[in-house]
Order: sequence, then structure tokens, then C-alpha cells
Amino acid sequence: MTATSPPLQVAIVGVGKIARDQHVPAIAGEPAFELAATVSRSGGLDGVENHADLMSLLDARSDIAAVSLCMPPVPRFEAATRALAAGRHVMLEKPPGASVAEVGTLERLARAKGVSLFATWHSRYAAGVAPARAWLSDRSIRSVRIAWKEDVRHWHPGQAWIWEPGGLGVFDPGINALSILTGILPGPVHLTKAVLSFPENRDTPIAADLSFTSASGMVVEAEFDWRQEGPQSWTIDVETADSALSLREGGARLFLDGEEQKVEGPGEYPGLYRRFAELIEAGQSDVDTSPFVHVADAFMLGERRIVAPFHE
Ligand code: NAP
Repeated sequence: MTATSPPLQVAIVGVGKIARDQHVPAIAGEPAFELAATVSRSGGLDGVENHADLMSLLDARSDIAAVSLCMPPVPRFEAATRALAAGRHVMLEKPPGASVAEVGTLERLARAKGVSLFATWHSRYAAGVAPARAWLSDRSIRSVRIAWKEDVRHWHPGQAWIWEPGGLGVFDPGINALSILTGILPGPVHLTKAVLSFPENRDTPIAADLSFTSASGMVVEAEFDWRQEGPQSWTIDVETADSALSLREGGARLFLDGEEQKVEGPGEYPGLYRRFAELIEAGQSDVDTSPFVHVADAFMLGERRIVAPFHE
């Protein structure tokens, strides 16, 4: 693929909120791709060829080189295996699946078929994240505090799947914070404690308090809460030996010692599609499961508390 190559034909599978809000405009703005079709049970997009199921698209359109899977995590593995087996490049929305091991299976299948698999973490493409990583790379970090607090009724209206097994509950947004954390820290951390609050009528948590540490004893405390009314917060505060870094608004704004820095970038989803094009061009995959491992660890290590039922 060069600047003069024709765009790669890409299909979106699962036309819900994120596909409409972000994937469609990002593809329209990325010269390496052209939206050729959708797979949608509910009809897809005006003016775009739609297939009711993925197999019919794969059978009918051998020219479609790539698929972008925008459905919830549980049905994603089956779609990904079908697309990879058919020799198509695959982009996975976050989280990359419903279990950690299945993502390894997808990675091996992509390698065997000689195609690219991209497990995306959109928040890593927020404008402040790359400069934060660079700034922290040679500093001694003492502590990190994460506050990811939003109103589930506002951000996820009518999304039944987030409350079902595999839907992750509050980790659906919380994993974005973990993707930034694992993207900016110079070394790994591991979970030491978790308290998960499950509404008595739901299968996934509405809130989670997490503690992590590193080999050097650095501490990370994270608070995820879906019951936040009023001001919402998606903030990561990092304290180093002699200074402080703060990422706010999901990584879009960067502050160093309280002073806002000028940061810019292509935008989260334009950045993802540029990276997908580069991976395909280079014949590579990008599959980092570290944020997902932390979520799995939280379900494994977490103390479970039953809290008030949740009704929409
Ligand atoms: P959504 O609005 O519920 O849309 C998901 C779409 O996937 C549905 O509209 C449906 O589209 C399709 N689908 C296929 N199988 C499904 C099934 N078994 N259950 C429900 N839908 C199914 O969800 P979303 O907010 O777009 O989220 C999708 C993924 O994107 C999630 O992994 C989420 O974490 C991620 N994401 C969401 C946001 C956000 O702000 N909402 C932000 C970043 C990432 P058809 O009717 O076309 O088949």
C-alpha cells in the first residue's frame, strides 16, 4: 500500500453506537481505507451495502480485505475466527474478546493465515497519552491514582450486553483507563486487591476499587464507578519523586505540575485506522492483552459485594 495504491476495502461488523459515532467517520477520513459494506442485523447504514450475517459478506465479497468488528465482546471471537480463516485482516474493538485465552487463539490464527490482527485500545490514541509516556519514561514514579467515574444511564442507555456475563460492567469503560496506564508506565504492575460491587440483579459490577503494585513498590489505586451523577471524571494522576502529571478527560488533556500542556494528535479513531493501515502494510499484528489481563485478575482476586439493584 502506497500513497497511490487504491484504498483497501473494509467492512464494519455490528453497527451500534461506536460504529456510527467513530468508525464510520474515521474510515471516511483515512485514505488507506474505503467502507465497502456492513454486517448488521438491524439494517446498517443508509447507502452502504449490508449483509445480514458475516458469512454471506465473506462469500460474496472476496475483494473486502479487512473487517472491523464493532459488536460487543462475546460474539466477537466467532466473527474474528471466520474473518481470519477467510484471509481477511481484522480489527477488534476493545475489549479484544470475552476471555484472555481466546485472544491468543486469534493471534495464532492470524499468523497462520498471514494476515494482520489489531486489538485496539482507542484511549491510547488520546492526545495526551504519547507525551505522558515520553515524560514518564525516565522518571521515578511513586504513585498513580485513577478516577474513572461516569453515569452508566447517560453513556450506555439500553445496552443490555454490558450487564451480561462477558459484558464487563464498569470495566467496559474502566479498561480504557487500564489501557492508558499500561501504555504510559515504563514497567509492569500487577493487581494486589480488588473490591467489586455487583448490583443484586446484575451479572457484572457497577463499581470496582483496585490496587496494583510494581516490583519496585510503586502503588496504583483505581476507582471505577458507574453511579456518578453530576461531574464525570476520567482522570489519571501520577506522582513522581519531584513532580506531578495529570491526564484528564480520558487522556485528551495533559497537565504537568498543574500547568496544562499543548497536546495534539489525529484523534483516537483516526489514529487507530492509520495504525491498522500501517500494520497491514508491514504484514504485522498488534495484540497487547495487558489491560485485559488486569480485568481478568480483578474478577479472579476481587472481593464481591452485593449492592442495590440497578434499573435503567
Ligand atoms: P452497541 O451500541 O450496543 O452496538 C453493538 C452492535 O453490535 C449492535 O448494535 C449490533 O449491531 C451488533 N451486535 C452483534 N451481535 C450482538 C449481540 N449479541 N448483542 C448486541 N449487539 C450485537 O455497543 P457499542 O457501544 O457500539 O459497543 C460495541 C463495542 O465497542 C464494545 O466492545 C464497546 O466496549 C466498544 N466501545 C464502545 C464505546 C462507546 O462509547 N459506546 C467506546 C469505545 C469502544 P447490528 O444491529 O448492526 O447487528
